[in-house]
Amino acid sequence: ALQVGIVGLPNVGKSTLFNAVSNSAKAQASNYRFCTIDPNVGLVDVPDERMTKLAELVKPNRIVPTQLEIVDIAGLVRGASKGEGLGNKFLGNIREVDAIIHVIRCFEDENVLREEGAINPVSDKEIIDTELQLKDLESIEKKLQRTEKMAKTDPKAKAELEVLLRCKTQLEQGKSIRALGLEKEERTAIADLFLLTEKPVLYVANVDEASMHTGNKYSEALTEAVKAEGAQVIVMNNTLEAQIAEMEAEDDKLMFMEEYKMTEPALNRLIRSAYKLLNLDTYFTAGVQEVRAWTIHKGWKAPQAASVIHTDFEKGFIKAEVIAYEDFIKYGSEAACRDNGKLRIEGKEYIVKDGDIMHFRFNV
Ligand code: GDP
Repeated sequence: ALQVGIVGLPNVGKSTLFNAVSNSAKAQASNYRFCTIDPNVGLVDVPDERMTKLAELVKPNRIVPTQLEIVDIAGLVRGASKGEGLGNKFLGNIREVDAIIHVIRCFEDENVLREEGAINPVSDKEIIDTELQLKDLESIEKKLQRTEKMAKTDPKAKAELEVLLRCKTQLEQGKSIRALGLEKEERTAIADLFLLTEKPVLYVANVDEASMHTGNKYSEALTEAVKAEGAQVIVMNNTLEAQIAEMEAEDDKLMFMEEYKMTEPALNRLIRSAYKLLNLDTYFTAGVQEVRAWTIHKGWKAPQAASVIHTDFEKGFIKAEVIAYEDFIKYGSEAACRDNGKLRIEGKEYIVKDGDIMHFRFNV
C-alpha cells in the first residue's frame, strides 16, 4: 500500500492523530478497518462514498475499500538534519513515504510543553521545512560532485547537472523542491535521490475545539503561508477526533458529533485528502461476492489496471467491460446498463477513468 507519513515538531498532536485513526478502526462500530503493523505504522481504509452507493445497489457479501499505510514519524526536532535527536533515523523514515501529513500546533494550552516559545505555526512549519531542505541539499551536493565530472563528456549528465544546480539554488533559498515545478523529464535527474521536499504535502492545523469549524488566527496564518505552495490545510481538533474514535457505539458517535455540529469525523476528510494528494485514481469491481475499490495511477491503461488485481490479468488481458460510475448509479445494475447500451467493451489502449466499474476478460 502507499504510505503517508505524519510529521511535525514534538507535542503538536501527531500521536493523538495517529491514535485517532487507529482507535476509530478498533472500535466495534468502526467506519474503517485498521490494522497495526507496528506501533507506529497502520493500514487504514480510504472512505469512499461511491463504494458505499455501489454496495447499496449490488448488495455484495462484503465491501473491500482501498487502503493507505499511515506512519507516525515522531522525533523530528530542530537540528534533525545534523543528527540531533536521532534526526537521521526519522528523516530516513520520511524518505520511504509517498506523501506527508504535516501537523502544526494551532492551539494554546499551557499544560502542553512547547520548546519554541509562543505558538507560531509559520515558524514551526519553517523549522521542519529547513531540516528537510538541508537533508535534500546534502543529497543534491553528493550527486553534483559525481555529475560535474561526467558532464564534461556526457551530454545526458550535462542536462542532469543543470537540474541539480536549479535544485541546489532552490534549497539554498529555503524553498522546497516540490515548489520548483520541474517537468517530468527533469524529475528523472533526481528520482534516485528520493528527495524529502519533493513529496506532496498537506497540513493539519490542529486547533482547539472552539475553532474547529471557523479556524483561528493561527490556522489563518498557516493557510496564508502555504498559499504559494498550493498546499491544502485541514483545520481539525485532534483531541476531539481521538474522543470520537474511542466511542464504541455508532449512536454515541453520532450524538457526540451532532453536539459539535459535525456531519462526519474530520478524519474522513483527512484520509480522503491524503489519498487525493497521491494523485491516484480508483476503479471498482462490483459483483455479488464483493464490491471492491482498486488503486491505480492516473493514466494507466486497462491491462496495467488489471494487474493490480492479479499479475496474470495483465499478461492474459483480452478486453474489459466498462461501465461509468454515473451510469451504474443511474441504471442500478450491470444488466440494466447493458440493456441501455452503457456497458462498453474496451481494449488494451483504454485509459481507465476514476470511478469506472471494470470487469476484465483474460486468458490464463
Ligand atoms: P506529538 O508529540 O506531536 O505526537 O503530540 P501528542 O499527540 O502526543 O500531543 C501532545 C500533547 O498535546 C498531549 O498531551 C495531547 O493530549 C495534547 N494535544 C494534542 N492535540 C491537542 C489539541 O488539539 N488541543 C489541546 N489542548 N491539546 C492537544
